[in-house]
Amino acid sequence: MRNWTADVIAQVAKGTLFGNPEAEVQGCIIDSRHAQGGEMFFALPGEKVDGHDYIEAAWKNGAVLVIADEARFQEESELVLPDKTTIPEGKALLLVKSVVSALQELAAGWRMELKAKVVGVTGSNGKTTTKDMIYAVLSQSFRVYRNKQNHNNELGLPLTILNAPPGTEILILEMGMRGLGEIKALCEIAKPDIGVITNIGTTHLELLLTQERIAQAKWELIDALPDDGKGIINGEDLFSVQKAVNDPHPICFYGLEGAFAAPHIRGERLRPWGVLGTAFDVTYKDEKTTANLPLPGTHNVLDALAALAVGTVFGVSLDKGSCGLSELELSKMRLEVRQGVLGTILINDVYNANPVSMQASLRVLKERAAGNKTLAILGDMYELGSSAESGHQEVGRTLTELGISELITVGKLAEEIAQGARMAGYAGDHIRVTCSREEAVEQALSLLTRLGPGTWVLIKGSRGMRMEEITAKLERSE
Ligand code: ATP
Ligand code: MG
Repeated sequence: MRNWTADVIAQVAKGTLFGNPEAEVQGCIIDSRHAQGGEMFFALPGEKVDGHDYIEAAWKNGAVLVIADEARFQEESELVLPDKTTIPEGKALLLVKSVVSALQELAAGWRMELKAKVVGVTGSNGKTTTKDMIYAVLSQSFRVYRNKQNHNNELGLPLTILNAPPGTEILILEMGMRGLGEIKALCEIAKPDIGVITNIGTTHLELLLTQERIAQAKWELIDALPDDGKGIINGEDLFSVQKAVNDPHPICFYGLEGAFAAPHIRGERLRPWGVLGTAFDVTYKDEKTTANLPLPGTHNVLDALAALAVGTVFGVSLDKGSCGLSELELSKMRLEVRQGVLGTILINDVYNANPVSMQASLRVLKERAAGNKTLAILGDMYELGSSAESGHQEVGRTLTELGISELITVGKLAEEIAQGARMAGYAGDHIRVTCSREEAVEQALSLLTRLGPGTWVLIKGSRGMRMEEITAKLERSE
């Protein structure tokens, strides 16, 4: 955001201002520890901590304006309306009806003032990856700003917008959702010009029940585009294609040969590149190039094609876009390769998991092991609702079809992976069911001693399973 004074902010957020109306604000934070000087601090009520307990800390750390809930300053509350003396010299306090709404309204205001094009990214899997790839494609040619990490909800999105510096030309915003209407609400703040839907999968089924409704919820991004706003759609995803063919917006399909919709931007001849990377040929109209992506798996190639497609909207050539992709900076805990004990190779993919991403990672394991022995250490996948059992079993089936040599499951839900594998004909003596990380490590170590050097190991599970603790125990010490 540009420098706003406290009184301008008070007008936009429709609140009551105390202290210095001239206080100049640059940037915003929701964690008082992130203050460096000059920020506005939103005192948000959290599940575990309440921002209102950190108002003084925020001022002390350098924030100049605090935005807080007016109800919290009423007489019956433990906090009392501060008189001017309690606000540090030169700083200000803004009391509003809802701190969350104030954050969103301010973001909407800055979005309108900022003459940037906004790219919204949603989908069941690969949003963060695609967001980072779009950044890699565009950032050599434009001033681009994107959300940090996974900031994709009703707080993270407005926070990202507010922190976009003046002069930003393109803003990339990941949009997450758990139910109908959520993407629509994010779009009312973000006003996207371009919408990317990576896929319409099976996450958050517990809240959205049917695939059709999931499709509808994701499509809220395309519905929110202006008439000439382009939808970037995965031609490999049947639900997306079905929605796209009935949509009035210009659509750019991306995909591989044989996609449900003929891709405008097409990848082919996928082949290994480096330890874990993938090279592929890509074609768009009369352009053709080879891209070297430092990530494995078809799913990552699809995300890269989406990013190159966004590039074409801004006139970035395939050559230039691919060059950006080859320098992609990778996030931690997603498909990292590590040296394991006893000459093994570990694929640490512990950031999160659902059936689609787990199956994708198993394919990577099989492909990269290139005939060597493979071990999958798989933990529970959360948030699958009533499809928890079938989702885990499906992974077991894929693992069997791929011919993964050995399986260790960790946790109660993951037992269904073993069950699914057995039902698909996987030999029981190659399965070890464990209920703790410690037990899984113990089993893995004895198994790896037998399997020997060159074995490839995949470690994956939901975030809450903390599977990285298993990786740490299986890593070769320096
Ligand atoms: P979240 O909902 O947690 O924000 P996300 O949609 O941002 O997730 P990423 O964090 O980019 O997704 O990727 C999560 C995992 O999904 C990756 O580790 C990878 O295994 C898998 N993945 C990435 N892209 C795709 C894709 N296009 N299709 C299927 N799986 C994918
Ligand atoms: Mg994400």
